[in-house]
Amino acid sequence: MPVAIEFEQVCRQYGEVKALDRVSFSVREGEFFSMLGPSGSGKTTSLRLMAGFEQPSSGHLRLMGREAAGTAPYDRDVNTVFQDYALFPHMNVLDNVAYGLMVRKVPKAQRLAQAREALAMVALPDHGARTPAQLSGGQRQRVALARALVNRPRILLLDEPLGALDLKLREQMQVELKALHRKLGITFVYVTHDQSEALSMSDRIAVFNKGQIEQIASPRDLYHRPKTRFVADFVGSANVIGEELAYSLNGHRQAFAVRQEKMAVIPAGTAAANGCFQVEGELLSIQFLGASQRLEVRVANQTLIALQPESEMANAMASSTHAGQRITLQWSAQDMVMLDA
Ligand code: ADP
Ligand code: MG
Repeated sequence: MPVAIEFEQVCRQYGEVKALDRVSFSVREGEFFSMLGPSGSGKTTSLRLMAGFEQPSSGHLRLMGREAAGTAPYDRDVNTVFQDYALFPHMNVLDNVAYGLMVRKVPKAQRLAQAREALAMVALPDHGARTPAQLSGGQRQRVALARALVNRPRILLLDEPLGALDLKLREQMQVELKALHRKLGITFVYVTHDQSEALSMSDRIAVFNKGQIEQIASPRDLYHRPKTRFVADFVGSANVIGEELAYSLNGHRQAFAVRQEKMAVIPAGTAAANGCFQVEGELLSIQFLGASQRLEVRVANQTLIALQPESEMANAMASSTHAGQRITLQWSAQDMVMLDA
């Protein structure tokens, strides 16, 4: 598939701070690509470079195969939706959406027609005459989307666009955004620090950490095959078994990850099942979470988490189990993912 965006050894430095440190990756045309990472890891900087609000300190950035340096933001086939979508409060919705076209001196009839079309795309066809104050948070975010889509960019950049919405609305908007992406067929680059958001929407995810990319993979691969300690922990909070404990278990000084839901809690003294590993530890806490319960267990010098699906057996066990007790955790060798670093 053709490449929409390409970073080659891109650095962006602010004084002493390396916001991006030799980052290379590419986004395919039509892809839903997410940049996931904690606060300060370089996601927004990457997005601002794509938009043209910033320039690389070194390295190359290409858009649709062309060197981007020297192309002003308004000459790029790119538009951005921010978290604080900053609609003009005194303008109605239709004029808010049409504003960018007005600045570009598109004739009035045409810009209003395009603005109506953009509002229809985000499922707000009848709200053009309202002011932003007369809309809900979710509707305002849709207006911001329409405003970014009105000049039909080939690439849409979204910087934590749902961050200000409550959980339920956020989940609903995730579904809508994904549907919109399918309908438009353009490239979406989506910034978030929320791993579940990235997992639920993306074709591929780049995990950022301290200005570098730790791994780029599909949501499933990222979840099941994390390459590094950081990814294993940040995406789905896997248990990371450190080198020492790993050595005592299998004779290899290599850290590995096991998902919380793959750690079974079994009665103490039960022999290890075929192809399984066991550790014994001290139960620190049991937390009821609804569909599951979460057990925190101290093993050697680390804390492991086991997520047990809610069931009668788990219930029976939980009622006879208490903090301070010794318990045994077991997992299958198949569920161990070796980590590089
Ligand atoms: P993220 O979006 O992942 O939270 P950013 O890309 O905004 O991270 O920031 C990455 C790093 O660069 C942070 O340490 C941040 O403080 C720094 N940074 C970003 N923009 C500027 C700026 N304009 N001036 C100085 N430092 C900045
Ligand atoms: Mg940011």
